Amino acid sequence: MRAFSYSRPRTPEAAVAAFTDAGAGARYIAGGTTLFDLMKLNVERPTHLVDVSELHGTDLIETSGDVLRFGAGARMADIADDETIKREYPLLAESLWRAASQQLRNMASVGGNLLQRTRCPYFRNGAGGVYPCNKRDPRTGCAAIDGLDRGQAVLGTSDACTAVSPGDWPVALTALDADIVVLGPQGNRTIPIADFYLLPQDTPDREFSLEPGELVIEIRVPRTAAGRASTYHKVRDRESYAFALAAAAVALRIEGGQVRQAHIALGGIATKPWRSREAEAALRGKAPTRENALAAGRAALAGAKAGRHNGFKIDLAANTIADAISIAAERSAS
Ligand SMILES: Cc1cc2nc3c(=O)[nH]c(=O)nc-3n(C[C@H](O)[C@H](O)[C@H](O)COP(=O)(O)OP(=O)(O)OC[C@H]3O[C@@H](n4cnc5c(N)ncnc54)[C@H](O)[C@@H]3O)c2cc1C
Repeated sequence: MRAFSYSRPRTPEAAVAAFTDAGAGARYIAGGTTLFDLMKLNVERPTHLVDVSELHGTDLIETSGDVLRFGAGARMADIADDETIKREYPLLAESLWRAASQQLRNMASVGGNLLQRTRCPYFRNGAGGVYPCNKRDPRTGCAAIDGLDRGQAVLGTSDACTAVSPGDWPVALTALDADIVVLGPQGNRTIPIADFYLLPQDTPDREFSLEPGELVIEIRVPRTAAGRASTYHKVRDRESYAFALAAAAVALRIEGGQVRQAHIALGGIATKPWRSREAEAALRGKAPTRENALAAGRAALAGAKAGRHNGFKIDLAANTIADAISIAAERSAS
């Protein structure tokens, strides 16, 4: 058991100040649904927790303007159940209700979901020198690369790390070009989601472009006409309460039987939420037939690199994209 101190400020500014005062061992905690696990596994060893679950104003869900606004403290379940989101942005609602379990979604925040860490078993279960992991303990090596790599990434990997980015919601947000608003010791800034997640390269321990002490306060999603014809399609070992083996977030604008606008992002197969401009380009101007959808799926996976046991993910992901395109296209017609 490691001792840690705890504070529960009421405003974002006070939270940032508490974090800064506590120094390098501080961590924010929201629902605690993943941070506590990692503390019990000895992967995270905070000396001070700043509880951000009751900050004023951070449970915002605003769907009426040109930009959808979600406070970082909003619960996954509340956005998943929001009638406007379900109707106008089914990919956002589905990315949340296909994640975790109802109990977890009731507790977990969408800000914490953005910042959850990989489920790579070597990262989670190898603390204390059991398995080397460059993400957990920099420059110690990677047990996954020559190990049981069935669940590992095939896109965005490096010689130092192949761990999959686990979240579903960040994939849907990536497809829709969301912005992440943060507050830090130097004030506010807005980070496009494309820049929020970092590729592992040779520093897999650095996963997010947040600076020390920066608190996520809001997620903004620009309105798009492609929102209604959208889906988050997730394939996993069992149909609920499991992370993705492959997932696709797809939103389309179809006119005259042709795809005019396509937003495509992938989950479960990459080291960060993966926008596929290749798949989008392959589909644009085409009818959303099975053949064209599959060609788009294959284009997304053209640069994929498999290890020993995860080669099946390449075909699986291409088909998952194709299925998601078909679902989104059907919604466009209805
Ligand atoms: C059994 C199980 C199954 C799951 N299945 C899925 C799944 O299928 N798909 C999926 O996407 N997720 C899944 N999850 C993960 C779950 O969605 C996350 O645990 C949850 O979203 C985290 O939110 P939280 O508020 O509890 O975060 P916490 O555990 O409180 O925090 C998570 C991380 O975010 C940081 N943090 C929290 N809030 C902020 C903030 N505002 N600013 C800066 N940093 C912050 C914390 O310091 C910590 O590092 C699963 C979890 C479990 C336990």
